[in-house]
Amino acid sequence: MPVADYIPTIGLEIHVHLKTRSKMFCACATSYGDDPNTRTCPTCLGLPGALPVLNEEAIKMTILTGQLLGAVTPEFCKWDRKNYFYADMPKNYQISQYDQPLVVGGRIPLYDQYFPKHQRGGAGADGVLATVPLTRIHLEEDAGKSTHFGTSSGLDYNRAGTPLMEIVTDPAISTADEAAALLASLRQILVYAGVSDADMERGQMRCDVNVSVRKSAAEPLGAKIELKNINSVAAVRRAIVFEIERQCGELDRGLAQRQETRRWDDERGESTDMRGKEDAHDYRYFPDPDLQPVCTTQWLNEVRSRLPELPHALRARFGHDYGLTPYDAGVLTSEPALAAYFEEAAAGSSKAKSVANWIINELLGRLNEGQTDFSANPVSAAALRELVDLVEGGGISGAQAKEVFSEMFATGGAPAAIVQARGFSQVSDTGALDGFVQQVLAANPDLVARIQAGEAKVVNVLVGQVMKASGGKANPKRVSELLAQALG
Ligand code: ZN
Ligand code: MN
Repeated sequence: MPVADYIPTIGLEIHVHLKTRSKMFCACATSYGDDPNTRTCPTCLGLPGALPVLNEEAIKMTILTGQLLGAVTPEFCKWDRKNYFYADMPKNYQISQYDQPLVVGGRIPLYDQYFPKHQRGGAGADGVLATVPLTRIHLEEDAGKSTHFGTSSGLDYNRAGTPLMEIVTDPAISTADEAAALLASLRQILVYAGVSDADMERGQMRCDVNVSVRKSAAEPLGAKIELKNINSVAAVRRAIVFEIERQCGELDRGLAQRQETRRWDDERGESTDMRGKEDAHDYRYFPDPDLQPVCTTQWLNEVRSRLPELPHALRARFGHDYGLTPYDAGVLTSEPALAAYFEEAAAGSSKAKSVANWIINELLGRLNEGQTDFSANPVSAAALRELVDLVEGGGISGAQAKEVFSEMFATGGAPAAIVQARGFSQVSDTGALDGFVQQVLAANPDLVARIQAGEAKVVNVLVGQVMKASGGKANPKRVSELLAQALG
């Protein structure tokens, strides 16, 4: 039967590096790009006798994430050893949480802007198109990193012991697009919450994908195939599309599916057999005797008192407070620094919509051209507001404003100084403009006659002539008004 007739079921396990200064169970600094094995100590190297000490900040960040996603933090959580052997994990076990995690339940909102264009629409002012239920969120430690060179391998333990938050969704996702939108939305939420930079390229967010297919909703879920450690949203999307087709093809040929772990090779665009998937009992989980269970009450109260505003709440507020369209609000909330910049520039301006347009069309356009991100923005919020006030107040023309903006972007200069240096003031004064208007009317009796005969559009020709006579300095809106008065 065709692929479209099968029902796919997808669940994600997402590992996120928390943005703490030190590691999960020792005082070593968390780091990226340092020389190998320069951020280690007996604890994160797993030397005998070294004892773990909990990182409170990591616990608070995990509870915070749960609160933001509407989840529950039980009163107690505990720590377990997940036993397996691998060279990048010298203790031969990972400290994780098995049956008493920090966070249970919750839902991840999927943002409209992260779906392909044809699937968007139907979201409210907050841009939330759907939500996906979560099973749990627990805290554990990352392993070191192996690099394989031909006949030998290198091991770097700088990453070993980095706080790792694992977010597990219910098997409630049905398309690759939905999975991709979930990852992009989650990343945005984690960045807003300040708990992670969640940069997939740097391995700060990695995703395991579980996929199964079945022929009808009446059947139980099919055998779960797990694809490990995929490190980009695009690769997750490709892996899911491939895996659904592969499993449907096998079922079509009458091949029974069995639970297994497969490796996704993004360059070749295919998954290959890795190992039969172990069950939980293969890891021989048991409570870590070096760590006490944790009572969460105090941290939960602390976290609840300072919940940050999430991107979807901000989008709804931008629509309501500034009259922005959902699209504009979506662009301006794509990162916290940009949203704060817009609010600063729009504060006290009656032209918030115009401020939004200048940021989206001119500022972000130029930053894109230069392939720089928003942190490199040379235009202060106050300068942008001043520029918008100048154009909207008729002090300079739209075309002049674009030139002024170019110079502000290049030099970081103030709009008023640039306007003055270039002699860009716009003439709105009636006395000064009246002379030009009379002069143009006298020189064009034929056009005046056509306007009076009902050809209203011809007035634009006269506006152009007045602009020309003024050397481009007349305020075109004011000129139109004066011509309309003169022509009665
Ligand atoms: Zn250490
Ligand atoms: Mn894990």
